[in-house]
Amino acid sequence: MSDFDWTVPVLVAGAGACGSVAALAAADAGVGVLVVERDDRPGGSTGMSQGLVCAAGTRSQAAHGVADDAATFFDDIMAKARGKTDPVIARTLAINSAPALEWLIDRHALPWELETRFRASYGNTRPRLHGWPGHSGLDMVQLLHARMADAGVDVLFDTRLVEIVADADGRVRGVALERPDGAIERVGCETLILACGGYGANRAMTDRYAPETRALRYNGHEGSEGDAITLGEKLGAALGDMGSYQGYAMLTDPQGISVPPPVLLEGGLIVNAHGARFTDETADIAGMVHPLTEQPDGIGWVIYDAAIEQRCAAIPELATLIELHAAKSADTPEALAALIGADPSMLTDAIKRAQGAGAGSAPDPLGRDWTGTQPPSAPFRALRVIGALYHTQGGLQVDAEARVLRPDGSRLPNLFAGGGSARSVSGPSSWGYLPAMGLTTAVTLGWISGRAAAALAAGRTEQSVES
Ligand SMILES: Cc1cc2nc3c(=O)[nH]c(=O)nc-3n(C[C@H](O)[C@H](O)[C@H](O)COP(=O)(O)OP(=O)(O)OC[C@H]3O[C@@H](n4cnc5c(N)ncnc54)[C@H](O)[C@@H]3O)c2cc1C
Repeated sequence: MSDFDWTVPVLVAGAGACGSVAALAAADAGVGVLVVERDDRPGGSTGMSQGLVCAAGTRSQAAHGVADDAATFFDDIMAKARGKTDPVIARTLAINSAPALEWLIDRHALPWELETRFRASYGNTRPRLHGWPGHSGLDMVQLLHARMADAGVDVLFDTRLVEIVADADGRVRGVALERPDGAIERVGCETLILACGGYGANRAMTDRYAPETRALRYNGHEGSEGDAITLGEKLGAALGDMGSYQGYAMLTDPQGISVPPPVLLEGGLIVNAHGARFTDETADIAGMVHPLTEQPDGIGWVIYDAAIEQRCAAIPELATLIELHAAKSADTPEALAALIGADPSMLTDAIKRAQGAGAGSAPDPLGRDWTGTQPPSAPFRALRVIGALYHTQGGLQVDAEARVLRPDGSRLPNLFAGGGSARSVSGPSSWGYLPAMGLTTAVTLGWISGRAAAALAAGRTEQSVES
């Protein structure tokens, strides 16, 4: 007799980008799928994000004349992580990111296209970030849920995975699900996909794996409590790169809204409380958080101008900041310094030297390459920023089919993982994050895991995932 009230072929825990894409992929394969989500609505870290995802070799890139391919993307991932990442996962993401995205566009009418404002930068040697122009990650996750509804996928909200029931060899038989009133429901499954996000909201885990993040404000999803990682580890799964995470140096204070990276890429600067620059603003989008927190009071100011503002005004986060009148504005560096409490001569010097470098009359003091951009000029804007932890990048070790592995490299029989729950490709720490690898891992491993889990549940062997 079964221990479970009922059984599904594919059970997906977590309904952010990874879980939603996995569920769509499994449903497309004609296999029954159930999604459980601890929150009462679509969101997750995906819903807080800028909704940008990397893909190499897409039609949208080609339409903009961008030559890119999986081999280049793979090289970029490995270079950014200084070779200290899993080449199997890196290759899997590099090869499958474009097919996954094109499938979502063609089959499910997801409106992703190349985000041309996000030029090749921060380790991506080609423009390859795709987004939904004028929309954020919240719009994206809501659209994914609409598509799941269209596909007839059931999503149980307010339902948290709290236990995995498995045989001694790690074969998953089913799960225990907790409802808000504490009631436990037991559901059997033939395959299980863990898509519960990372562990950034779990202080015990961040203290253990990335203690330096204590200096950062947590600006990720509260549901990222590491459930998938903890439950997977109990089953005998290997973990990888647990100290890996994306920090961010541009969380506006007090608004709590991210300054989008194109503000820097279009010419913006970051200065400290005194008005001095301290880093090449185009070197490391995630690792820049640590030099920021070492500055006086751990705060900075993003300095840009009206022209940069205009070029980036359609990006939802900046549009909101404009609406909130969050930026200080002034016509001269001295007046701006007075507004932000900086030393007028230091701020003037920082801006003048950057302008000199932009004009090619002297090297940039921080080594920034100004090719194709210009530093800010009057009228100036300034946004106060602090450093934050956005999401973690370490997790369950998976293979090219998003199958969860044991420490000896063997597969657990029917367990899959993706997105923040899986090991990504950012190396062991904070400096290996390539822009948009969070959602790239979620979307690509979601697509792969959904197809592979469906095939396993249906007794077929998945042949078409390239690795
Ligand atoms: C402010 C911000 C901006 C970002 N911008 C970008 C960006 O532009 N591009 C990019 O690539 N990355 C970005 N990221 C990172 C990106 O959002 C994540 O890497 C990505 O969303 C992870 O997707 P996911 O599906 O794995 O996790 P999530 O989207 O977090 O989804 C996991 C879901 O699982 C649920 N859950 C958790 N535990 C359980 C459980 N036990 N049972 C059931 N459900 C559970 C959660 O409630 C959540 O809804 C950003 C992150 C932040 C915080």
